[in-house]
Amino acid sequence: MNVKLPIQEWIIQNKLVNVSGTMTALGASLVPKEIAAAIEDSLDIFIDINALQAEASRVIAEMTGAEAGCISASTASGMCIGLAAAITGDNLLAAEKMPIAKSPLDEVVLLRGHNVSYGGQVEQHIRMVGAEPVEIGTVNLVEPYQLRNAINERTVASLWVTSHHTVQSGMLDFGTFVEICHERKVPVIVDAASEYDLKIFIERGADIAIYSGHKFLSGPTTGILAGKLPIIRSAYYHQTCGIGRSMKVGKESIVGAIAALQRWKTMDHKKLHQLEYARLKTIHSALNEIRGLVVQENPDPTGNPITRLKVSIDPKISSMSIAKLSEFMKEGKPSVIVRDHHVDIGYFEIDPCNLNEGDAEIVVSRFREVQDELLKQIPVSQDQEGLGPRFSCYNQDGIPSVDPDKVPWTFKKGRDRESVFRKWPKF
Ligand SMILES: *Cc1c(COP(=O)(O)O)cnc(C)c1O
Repeated sequence: MNVKLPIQEWIIQNKLVNVSGTMTALGASLVPKEIAAAIEDSLDIFIDINALQAEASRVIAEMTGAEAGCISASTASGMCIGLAAAITGDNLLAAEKMPIAKSPLDEVVLLRGHNVSYGGQVEQHIRMVGAEPVEIGTVNLVEPYQLRNAINERTVASLWVTSHHTVQSGMLDFGTFVEICHERKVPVIVDAASEYDLKIFIERGADIAIYSGHKFLSGPTTGILAGKLPIIRSAYYHQTCGIGRSMKVGKESIVGAIAALQRWKTMDHKKLHQLEYARLKTIHSALNEIRGLVVQENPDPTGNPITRLKVSIDPKISSMSIAKLSEFMKEGKPSVIVRDHHVDIGYFEIDPCNLNEGDAEIVVSRFREVQDELLKQIPVSQDQEGLGPRFSCYNQDGIPSVDPDKVPWTFKKGRDRESVFRKWPKF
């Protein structure tokens, strides 16, 4: 009973400090004891999965205001089964034949600025169900007529993504998107993987909204689909008997996701957010003492109740790049993983949502270790006095030129997915 297996030792040896956010690549989130207990209760018994998913539907409906819901393996698989449901409706034979290779293919519309990589690629979920993504507008501007005129008799669904990953400006608003899609009877499927507000998409007319069970909800890896009953029922069918069978979710995860939703209802959110912010402020005041760093508070761009620190390097004090600093943090023992999506535009962030007791202090001491390194790298020759912040320098003749480490279009990433792929399983 009490025998420890070698993997238990391994995970302790290899644990990371995560100030990056809820990332699949880092094991998603910290699962609290009460959710773990519910999962454990489910492991050594049998249960009727249809009944368990019906209970999930009841709890999801209560928490989201939707008619129905079900648990999937992840948000990504939720997008697949949701889109598949939009295509086949209640035709079970069509469901079995997925992905239907029709010619011409069914079409799914999405804003071009929503066709992002969150790790996986949004448009791949559309292709997986045998449909074709049709991007609306341009990366930085979308107009209502562009959506209205793109919808045609082949359009079977629309996909909306709310996320920090998408283009944040120049897009249509959600209300207009839903209105235009619904005028033409096109269902709206929402990827809300990382969004805290469990009601807003349903309230504003989404046919399905999909959340990750393992991000802000702190559950095990799962997706939570909420929406209108007929399309949710079809999505659930796809999961049990159709294309989603290859991504099925087990009893332990369904129970864990339900427990996460039930905990969400009873927890003191404000108190948690105050604790997270207090930890952030501890880190902030320590970083203010480190010469060369510029630190600012940064609210989450999509409205989640998170304040992060935005950390950049004062170019007048150090010429170290922020990418180098993020690598340095990683090389600590334990490794500290910062939120590095934007190192190519000169900053990274510190996210306070996944810290264990004592982690804030580890983050601070790692930053202190970099102090000397920062000051060793004196900015290249020119005196920037009286010029204001800029990512450029001057050549010997006093002519302006770009500093290639500081500007995204000349910034060369130190690592890429292919090199990680080719190296694995070596680290
Ligand atoms: C995390 C994320 C996903 C993937 O969610 P999973 O539940 O891990 O599959 C999809 N879309 C967005 C915008 C995300 O942030």
